[in-house]
Amino acid sequence: TPRQDSPLYALLEQAAAYYRQQLRHHGQRQRAVGYLKQRGLTGQIAKLYDVGFAPPGWDNLMSHLAHDNTEQKALLDAGLVVENPETGKRYDRFRDRIMFPIRDARGRVIGFGGRVLGDEKPKYLNSPETPVFHKGRELYGLFEARRSNRQLEDILVVEGYMDVIALAQHGITNAVATLGTATSEDHLRRLFRVVHNVVFCFDGDNAGRQAAWRALQACLPAMEDGRHVRFLFLPEGQDPDTLVRSEGQDAFRARLVQKSVALTEYLFRHLEKEANIESLEGKAHLATLALPLIEQVPGSLLRRLLRQALENRTGMRLDELPASPPPPAEAE
Ligand code: ATP
Ligand code: MN
Ligand code: MN
Ligand code: MN
Repeated sequence: TPRQDSPLYALLEQAAAYYRQQLRHHGQRQRAVGYLKQRGLTGQIAKLYDVGFAPPGWDNLMSHLAHDNTEQKALLDAGLVVENPETGKRYDRFRDRIMFPIRDARGRVIGFGGRVLGDEKPKYLNSPETPVFHKGRELYGLFEARRSNRQLEDILVVEGYMDVIALAQHGITNAVATLGTATSEDHLRRLFRVVHNVVFCFDGDNAGRQAAWRALQACLPAMEDGRHVRFLFLPEGQDPDTLVRSEGQDAFRARLVQKSVALTEYLFRHLEKEANIESLEGKAHLATLALPLIEQVPGSLLRRLLRQALENRTGMRLDELPASPPPPAEAE
């Protein structure tokens, strides 16, 4: 864990202030503001999420925040400046990008995501791992979601920065995003510390569907009784940003209620794509796939109900089977 008083926090906060200021005053701010407007965002919501602009150029931030070698080194440690290993030349990591500050649970800036204004690659650039930023643990927007509602009851997990912000723009302020990484058990620990209901809502594409199955797998060991996880699958080609913009808050909320499926339902639905339970072989296959997943569930009520559901689907009494396969006989 980072030292509470790491000097990187102050530096990252200064960088966020600088990017925010550039969105207001830089000569090219109209390009950045125009981009945000074109994506349906108002200045008010940009302010709520502290969106900024890293202007084009190699050393804007560096010359603003570092006046000697020691200060440049600090910017390197914060992941804001990059050093070319061959020439030793240093330059700003984020150039000509819309900037999204990433905050920890206490609201401290720990890193950034930056998006190009056009179609250049890479579309998004994140801060690297630093002493204060660990991508696999953080959830973008969690601080802002809790700030908007101290009594959060559920959290919506989406893929991207723009999904979080577009949903907030439409009054849905309880969304968070994993930072381009798979949902981890760390993420779930964080989420369940705050709420008992989590809904995953990933993009309607292959990557999104894969991310959902991986999220389910990460959820299983966290499924204490009383915790609820649902999945909302979106129409092909849509993400929460495009969908909430086209159908609006009310329809999106109705979709969440009516079209989301419980983790248990998704589990069987997914496995039954692989195992055709019309045949006995398929039923055996389903049991083989489902049992090791079900056994990971710590909530004893939910685990029992899942076993019962598997029994109904296979027509087989599972208590006649060992909970896990016996260990292979040892070779002599
Ligand atoms: P936008 O709507 O701005 O085009 P998106 O959020 O819909 O972006 P996706 O391609 O769906 O973009 O990716 C989801 C998330 O994955 C992004 O928000 C970002 O956090 C992460 N991501 C996408 N592309 C990259 C990349 N090239 N490098 C790092 N992270 C990325
Ligand atoms: Mn996608
Ligand atoms: Mn997307
Ligand atoms: Mn998108």
